[in-house]
Amino acid sequence: MSTDSISRSRLTTLTQRELATFADRHPGSKNAYANATHLFGRVPMTWMNKAAGNFPIYLDRASGNRITDVDGNEFVDFALGDTGAMAGHSPEPVVAAVTERLRSGLATMMPTEDAAVAGAELARRFGLPAWSFALTATDANRWAIRLLRAVTGRSKILVNSYCYHGSVDESLIVVGPDGRGVSREGNVGAPVDVTMTSRVAEFNDLAGLERELAYGDVAAVLMEPALTNIGIVLPEDGYLAGVRELTRRYGTYLIHDETHTFSAGPGGATAYWGLEPDVVTIGKAIGGGVPVGAYGLSAELAGTLSGRDDLDLVDMGGVGGTLAGNPVSMAATRATLSEVLTEAAFAGMIERATAFADGLVKIIEGYRLPWSVSRLGARVEYRFASPAPRNGTESARGADPELEDFLHVYLANRGVLLTPFHNMALMCPQTTLADVARHHEIFDAALNELV
Ligand code: PMP
Repeated sequence: MSTDSISRSRLTTLTQRELATFADRHPGSKNAYANATHLFGRVPMTWMNKAAGNFPIYLDRASGNRITDVDGNEFVDFALGDTGAMAGHSPEPVVAAVTERLRSGLATMMPTEDAAVAGAELARRFGLPAWSFALTATDANRWAIRLLRAVTGRSKILVNSYCYHGSVDESLIVVGPDGRGVSREGNVGAPVDVTMTSRVAEFNDLAGLERELAYGDVAAVLMEPALTNIGIVLPEDGYLAGVRELTRRYGTYLIHDETHTFSAGPGGATAYWGLEPDVVTIGKAIGGGVPVGAYGLSAELAGTLSGRDDLDLVDMGGVGGTLAGNPVSMAATRATLSEVLTEAAFAGMIERATAFADGLVKIIEGYRLPWSVSRLGARVEYRFASPAPRNGTESARGADPELEDFLHVYLANRGVLLTPFHNMALMCPQTTLADVARHHEIFDAALNELV
């Protein structure tokens, strides 16, 4: 359990009070949810049932870092669509580019020149020369995995315990109590036992990684340069260089999933830490909120793949989708990268995130709570554990769903949104220091009542 100084009965009482307030403040959302009887789980996507207030808040409109719900409540949004809206909601250059495209053909199976511009910008930022597009980061990961299996003739993919790379079957493995890989709890419909397709190592554990790579059957390591989906777990000194050295030594390709670590800066963690992956996968934020995914290949890999006449990369190869690379996604990606998530925008976002993290640390220390705060560029997260967890398993152990839900509802009732599934706050170009201060004032008040 997280914190001795928190009384569980007090937490329950306060949560009941906050849930009642939440229901009072959101009659329209409550009603809409009750009426959505022909949606599986009453939501368009089952994840939307991850709602600390017992039902989801229904969107009316969003702009910049502000959301207005169907009841007219306004929120400062630090969730930002779990990174899908890191460029801010409906950024003007994206809206303009997409609006133009919406009127001029949506699904033609033809390339537009925007794609090449977006690819060139991704190449400049991430240092990998050959890019291809998907509609989600999940698909980018799936397709990268297929390509690397094909190139290596090896069957397995290695991931970090408690990683998240989308609903990629190979990634749903954790280190079990005896140190061996086991299926992640709750996984739905695995095609085969995950140990047949995957190996797993803890983040920050080079010895564990080497032990698994030594089997010689791992096509690729798929990892985030910092874990961001089980709290933020930052790499220790030398870890990422060690991963690169070991993967090269054992003939295993290295995929860095930058979908969330893009928060580190304009070229993601790749540029920020000077990394040399063979493949970068990414999605969400690069489309400014419009669905897109992408993967970038090294020159060596692109060359090898192009020379493989036995691989059908054009038709049945399973590395594409009908609507991938569509004109709207490409217009949105071009506009986001060239006009919204610029170097100047990142500088401001990171400045606000630094203020967010510093303020959190002060408040948490003031209440003598054994919690920790981690930041990766524009992304900040606190965990109910101190010191900060070193790997996914340690971080998972620090979870406290009741406490998390209480804080989320308390904040929502006072007009601030954090990311569901996390205690994560993300900054977009419009986030101000006043918004940060507003979060901190409410967070402080919550702890003052609780501790
Ligand atoms: N990779 C990472 C690191 C992610 O955090 C996520 C989603 N949270 C994904 C991939 C999958 O993204 P999507 O659901 O948009 O496919």
